[in-house]
Amino acid sequence: MSPLADRYGRRFPYLRLSIIPACNFRCTYCLPHGYHADAKATAPLSLQEITRLLRGFTEMGMHKLRITGGEPSVRHDLTEILRTAAAVPGITKLAMTTNGTLLSKRLYEWMDAGLNAINVSVDSLDRASFARITGHDRLEDILHGVDMALEADLPAVKLNAVLLRDVNDRELPAWLDYLRDRRIGVRFIELMQTGDNLPFFREHHVRAETLETQLLEAGWQLLPRAADAGPAREYRHPDYAGRIGIIAPYSKDFCAGCNRLRVTATGDLRLCLFGEFGIPLRPLLQSDDQLEDLVRAIGGQIGRKEQGHFLHEGRTGITPHLASTGG
Ligand code: SAM
Repeated sequence: MSPLADRYGRRFPYLRLSIIPACNFRCTYCLPHGYHADAKATAPLSLQEITRLLRGFTEMGMHKLRITGGEPSVRHDLTEILRTAAAVPGITKLAMTTNGTLLSKRLYEWMDAGLNAINVSVDSLDRASFARITGHDRLEDILHGVDMALEADLPAVKLNAVLLRDVNDRELPAWLDYLRDRRIGVRFIELMQTGDNLPFFREHHVRAETLETQLLEAGWQLLPRAADAGPAREYRHPDYAGRIGIIAPYSKDFCAGCNRLRVTATGDLRLCLFGEFGIPLRPLLQSDDQLEDLVRAIGGQIGRKEQGHFLHEGRTGITPHLASTGG
């Protein structure tokens, strides 16, 4: 097995695979005008291509897979993709990031297919504010789906909320109420600049440190970072069943803990969310005989991974918005 490791000693057991660039939401910071397919748009990877891709990555030690998009549940064969991925030897954690619009309808089907971790994007607990951010008045049903996932004992349930200045950055009291009795993790993510969102970013970016100061003052404790942990700084409090994670991509050493690679819906390997290039793997997914070539191609590219992103300098690479790459 050739391990997925780079020249800075980082290992990459975690793959984020986008299965579709389309999304049904219009989040102000991502796709404010909704998703519009390019006339020349290439079809997303087929189930067979996905299976070959996953065999290649597991051959190199990948064991955690996150299905993302766009919005993965827009894809009609999502359940089949989950079932197929769960059956690939070596994949032990099968996660998905979703806006939750189909969660209450499809949860049991997805769990039956092998899904064992879910991140649901919930940018606000206030119905009107949620609708303003996402373009959809769906908060209640989405939160119902989240409670169903908790009741069904889905092993990992997390919420993602992007922090937006003057939009949702004063909602900590509502979140604390929410977390008091729920064994759930909420992750507050700092807004990232992308190719398309500069004016919005300038107006609404807020550093997560302000929130962390409030947490510390309220008695939340920062947990020591586990060896294989992702980029979130995790906090807990003895009076709360839930936990809070902070994802601060502009903080020092953020990329030192990078443990993931990405593949876009059309099969391009992205070494960094904000990288300057994609490496087309699709030509190597056309027959089962190509496994060795695929593994060699992936292994040969890891050395090109940069030590860190260049977001501080406003360099967003080829990512117009996160839906295009798989956030
Ligand atoms: N549609 C799914 C969802 O809503 O979770 C998956 C794709 S979405 C691109 C993945 C995550 O990226 C969401 O939690 C979203 O809020 C986050 N995201 C998108 N654009 C972002 C940005 N510019 N900065 C920080 N997070 C962003």
